[in-house]
Amino acid sequence: MMTKWLGIKGGKTLVGKPGGDSKTAVTQDILIDNGVIVEVGEVIAFPPGAEVLDVQGCFVLPGFVDLHCHMREPGDEESETIHSASIAGANGGFCCVVAMPNTTPAIDGPDMVELIRSKSTSALIDVEVAGAISKAREGKALSEMNEMARLGVKIFTDDGCGVQDSRLMLSAMQYSLTSNSILAQHCEDSYLASGGHLHDGDVSSVLGVQGIPNEGEEAMAYRDILLAKKTGARLHLMHMSTQRVLEIVQQARDWGVDITCEVTPHHLSLTHESVKSLNPNLKVNPPLRTANDCHSLIEGLIKGQIDAIATDHAPHHPDKKDVPFEEASFGMLGLETAFSVVFTLLTQDKFPASPELIKPSSIDTIQALAIIQRAMSETPSKIAGVEKRHGGPIEPGRVANLAIIDPSRCWTVAANKLASKSRNTPFDGIELVGKVVHTIAKGKLVVSDGGSL
Ligand SMILES: [Zn+2]
Repeated sequence: MMTKWLGIKGGKTLVGKPGGDSKTAVTQDILIDNGVIVEVGEVIAFPPGAEVLDVQGCFVLPGFVDLHCHMREPGDEESETIHSASIAGANGGFCCVVAMPNTTPAIDGPDMVELIRSKSTSALIDVEVAGAISKAREGKALSEMNEMARLGVKIFTDDGCGVQDSRLMLSAMQYSLTSNSILAQHCEDSYLASGGHLHDGDVSSVLGVQGIPNEGEEAMAYRDILLAKKTGARLHLMHMSTQRVLEIVQQARDWGVDITCEVTPHHLSLTHESVKSLNPNLKVNPPLRTANDCHSLIEGLIKGQIDAIATDHAPHHPDKKDVPFEEASFGMLGLETAFSVVFTLLTQDKFPASPELIKPSSIDTIQALAIIQRAMSETPSKIAGVEKRHGGPIEPGRVANLAIIDPSRCWTVAANKLASKSRNTPFDGIELVGKVVHTIAKGKLVVSDGGSL
């Protein structure tokens, strides 16, 4: 039985302008009453009977918000369910995830939105629903975008594939203006990408396996930017993987296009070199690119050119992954490792899974956590439209959605210990630095000492 009061003692919070990376650490106690933060101060005398977490040496961040999560329900409950994904999310410090609409059936109308919402009520964390752009995600006719928007859906995407028909994308953008919603694109020209299994480059040549060229991603990004410029629509580019896509986004900003973008932890930290192993857990779409691309994306993150880190958590049942590389499905788990992968990448001399990556600049713990707080919480909460509940600031009156981080704790990822129903992590056996030790989501302590309650 949980007590009414929850105290967080001796943790550090990062204070500074929201959306910026210039922050300072302040030691503050936090008191939560029935799920709502009621007091934040240097030293709080916690009421008798309060449950108190002593978190000295740890940082208390606003809980993470994932703009890109495949929860697999309905249709593929063997791989994941909304409930199991919510436990995985909580373990990773996420307090809100945006559920992708590539379920079976697809989330392409108000009935499906209501179904996901009703299934999400028992989730440990908040679940926001994204709607499909096209009916059944077939890329032929528009979904019931306006009806879904009336229910509060803010993000539309056919993720899993890009919208190939430029005329349809133009119409979707025109529709999106009436509801002020966001079109999130999985940038992939399916003709250029067709038949490919990994990045088109040295490694694909050596392996003799058909590659996926950069241009398939870059061409669609450019097309959508042109359409967004024409219409004034709000565009979000998902899982950017190449240096040039980031350059194109910067150009779009110069043109005044209303654009945001995300990158995944794996596109920052893993390269196509690792795919030489033909480990099916490294097969992902867009594919892992070159070290040069990783370096550009890391620099873009540090400079604030990349708005959000999103997981693209994509669970797959072993039947889809314990098979030869060319037969395996695309996608990898992300929720439980996202924070630690990014923190390790930003603070350590070498990222253990990618010896070819060169540390771009020296970033200390506080700078790294400030970048993470911005890109995994503050900015994505605004993009998802959940900033009233998520993304901080940590102050009285707000629902407690918090991730408590121990920056010095090392841990080794063990696929068979993850809360996800699937096992397809590329980081199995990799030692990471920094761990989410407690998560308070929807006002409740849902993860304590690194394990879900
Ligand atoms: Zn995608």
